[in-house]
Amino acid sequence: MNRNESSIMVFVIVFLVVFLVMAIVMVVSIWKIFERAGRPGWAAIVPVYNHMVMPENEQYSRYKLNRKGTFELKQPGGNHCWRMWSGSVVTWAGKVVPCCFDKDAMHSMGELSTDSFNEIWHSRNYKAFRNSILLNRQGIDICRNCSEGANVWK
Ligand code: SF4
Repeated sequence: MNRNESSIMVFVIVFLVVFLVMAIVMVVSIWKIFERAGRPGWAAIVPVYNHMVMPENEQYSRYKLNRKGTFELKQPGGNHCWRMWSGSVVTWAGKVVPCCFDKDAMHSMGELSTDSFNEIWHSRNYKAFRNSILLNRQGIDICRNCSEGANVWK
């Protein structure tokens, strides 16, 4: 094995060790988080299932069971959203959307291929969307399940 091959081998070994240590730390962390939330730690590492389990411990739950037997946000946000005045999201296609909750760009405020960001930010579309949040945030599909403004640390 020549000197170059040795260097590559050392690099690969160091990389694998660092990767392994990070993976172990990550698994232990999510395991402990699940246990604190009242769920078995193993549930954290089962793909798909780990996204479906709800925290047993009320303190860590984002939702509560209502009288109809369905889940609702524990602390639904009021008619406000600081995101509307602090930032937006640009999709891969250049559409400007209000936030990352608009995953399918259903509330596109404009497209950077035709308008500047400044024009879109001050557009009638954007102002109308901001107004609708101030009037009735629960009436906007993407905002209904959003915890923006809620005190999630209580
Ligand atoms: S989904 Fe949430 S962050 Fe996005 S606009 Fe609605 S309230 Fe604001």
